[in-house]
Amino acid sequence: MSATSSPAQLLKQYFGYDQFRPLQAEIIERVLQKRDVLVLMPTGGGKSICYQLPALAQPGLAIVVSPLIALMKDQVEALRANGVPAAYLNSSLSGGEQTQIERNCTDGITKLLYVSPEKLSSPNFINWLKTLPISLFAIDEAHCISAWGHDFRPEYAQLKALKQYFPGVPLIALTATADKLIRHDIVAQLDLNDPEIFISSFDRKNLSLRVRPGRNRLGQILDFLEKHPNQPGIIYCMSRSSTEDIADKLYKSGYKASCYHAGLPTADRSATQEAFLRDDIQIICATIAFGMGIDKSNIRWVMHYNLPKNLESFYQEIGRAGRDGLPAKTVLFYSFRDVMNWRDMFAQNPTDRQELQIARLDRMQQYAEAHLCRRRILLNYFSEESVTDCGNCDVCRNPRTHFDGTVLAQKALSAAIRLQESVNMSTLIDVLRGSRSRAIVEKGYDKIKTYGAGADLKADEWREYLTQMVNTGVLDVAYHDKYAIHRGVLAQKVLNGAHQVWLVKPEDRIEMKPSEETRKPRKQALEEALFNHLVEVRKQLADQHNVPPYIIFNDNTVREIARQRPANRAELINISGVVQQKVAVYGDAFLKALREFVQSQGGGSTAMRGSTYQFTYELYEQGFPVEQIAQQRNLGIGTIQGHLVWLLENGYNIDWQQFAQPHEIQAIQQAIPRLENPSPKNLFVHFGEKYDYLKIRLALSFFRKEQGGYLLPA
Ligand code: ADP
Ligand code: ZN
Repeated sequence: MSATSSPAQLLKQYFGYDQFRPLQAEIIERVLQKRDVLVLMPTGGGKSICYQLPALAQPGLAIVVSPLIALMKDQVEALRANGVPAAYLNSSLSGGEQTQIERNCTDGITKLLYVSPEKLSSPNFINWLKTLPISLFAIDEAHCISAWGHDFRPEYAQLKALKQYFPGVPLIALTATADKLIRHDIVAQLDLNDPEIFISSFDRKNLSLRVRPGRNRLGQILDFLEKHPNQPGIIYCMSRSSTEDIADKLYKSGYKASCYHAGLPTADRSATQEAFLRDDIQIICATIAFGMGIDKSNIRWVMHYNLPKNLESFYQEIGRAGRDGLPAKTVLFYSFRDVMNWRDMFAQNPTDRQELQIARLDRMQQYAEAHLCRRRILLNYFSEESVTDCGNCDVCRNPRTHFDGTVLAQKALSAAIRLQESVNMSTLIDVLRGSRSRAIVEKGYDKIKTYGAGADLKADEWREYLTQMVNTGVLDVAYHDKYAIHRGVLAQKVLNGAHQVWLVKPEDRIEMKPSEETRKPRKQALEEALFNHLVEVRKQLADQHNVPPYIIFNDNTVREIARQRPANRAELINISGVVQQKVAVYGDAFLKALREFVQSQGGGSTAMRGSTYQFTYELYEQGFPVEQIAQQRNLGIGTIQGHLVWLLENGYNIDWQQFAQPHEIQAIQQAIPRLENPSPKNLFVHFGEKYDYLKIRLALSFFRKEQGGYLLPA
């Protein structure tokens, strides 16, 4: 690095980016002026560059405090892949390794040294640091210093001494926690000297927000996965057992899913995490124990199987998706049951903050039940002004249908009153719908006047509407009295007809309208196919070099490569996210893959006329059998079979019955849940080569459509 390079030049040289994100340039400038700063940016906002770049722009060694070994390892790996001399010191290293790293620091080779907070409280270490030219201290995850936060680390308290030992060295504290109280705490605890505080917007525009009713959750998840093949994601669950259960079911449905919770042995947990980072596992079903320190930039979706207990946790967890800035999806499943479970849990473990806990849970519930733009609710919660609808949440995309529900409300109220305000929501629904269950008949509930008055609605619909009535004060839930449904404050007026009740029709589809997944124009389909191919190349390279794929290039960069199709190294380095070091190590492999792809299109030049799928489709339409398509295109039969399945899955008109009988598909599908790893090859062997690969691939493709279902397309 030359002393004369500007921050912008260093940004391109070491990170491959052409522009700073908002606030990055100002923060860097301030650190270079040796000022203390506090940086508040959401996860994925781009905090790291705020201290990594000043470290590269000046002489000396930057010390970075990071709370987790996994996090340090990840960051150092990413920096080294970009050609930045970085290292970490922690308890996982051998004595010999430590000595070598220390020598590189004293020799002035290393520019960034990552350490644990414990390390910085050791007097020997401090004394050693005093002998070195320290350029800056960066305190990552700085909220860990605050006892008010959710990740309090007592070791962080020792960091206060840094300002005494190194008064002239600038200190930069960074966190994604926006809380005001915590902000003040960080400044005080670290003894920051007249710090400038930078607060970036917490809006993550690339994250779509959506809430779904917590019914048939597994079916909804499978439906979603079907539409987002191979995209890595996390499913957060409330209990350890449900993480195991869901992972197991997804696995049996043919997905690479695994569970993660604090009750599992450490070795298993790190193996799972590592496999996820490397894209060997697609889906992690986890408790909140999973996530902090996951720097994986290509998490494409996050789901909440259960309601989180507050919006802070929720926002942190969804924030792990889409760190590369590409679109990512979030889905929250909401059921009132979860609210009750949290309330019970708070009641069982009373603390002095119980009221606060409940108030925060209320806000979470309001978010889940809202019929207003969800992002506005979130941003307002985090004290950020937001006056326009976002266009990227389910409410904005599917404006709700309101209807006059006064009669429904009267029926519900009348039933609740006749039942002495003593039954919970489920029983009330049974009575309204005229259930003949024993519990209802034995108690004589079938004798009351409103019994069966609401038989025209499904139980789920009633649940939805009753919940809305609770939220608007028509009904009330007696939490202290077995959740019995009582009259709400508006009950009398509703019964008199003096108050009209507006209800909102529930949504019934998981996909947003207009769906981004609807058919893509050809050019886009081609780019998509090339992207997928390059992702495979990246994975092979990652395995060869023993690093997670996103360390090589993040998804955004791979997308750009697919879009621009660089023909040589010089064109490759111009792409955002590509640095010299990576061109040297991986460039040729990507360029070769691009050339081969172009050739496989049948076009000799860089101009691609149509996607490889399109060519196969055209030949198929002309009536050629698979073998001849393969011959004409100079591709393997397996490849053509794969194309046909892809075409079918992407809405092209492929008559699959030409290739397999429905009963054959069913026979294969019955074996899928029974095999530990139902890959095409294993199924082929399982049936003693009775069914060809195309039949097996079709069976697998249809199988995922429904949980364990033997579904055939119409
Ligand atoms: P945080 O630590 O705030 O969660 P990171 O520092 O890990 O976020 O950055 C998130 C992602 O954004 C990374 O993939 C990083 O390379 C990328 N990024 C950061 N700054 C820029 C920039 N100026 N231009 C493009 N991408 C950037
Ligand atoms: Zn919105």
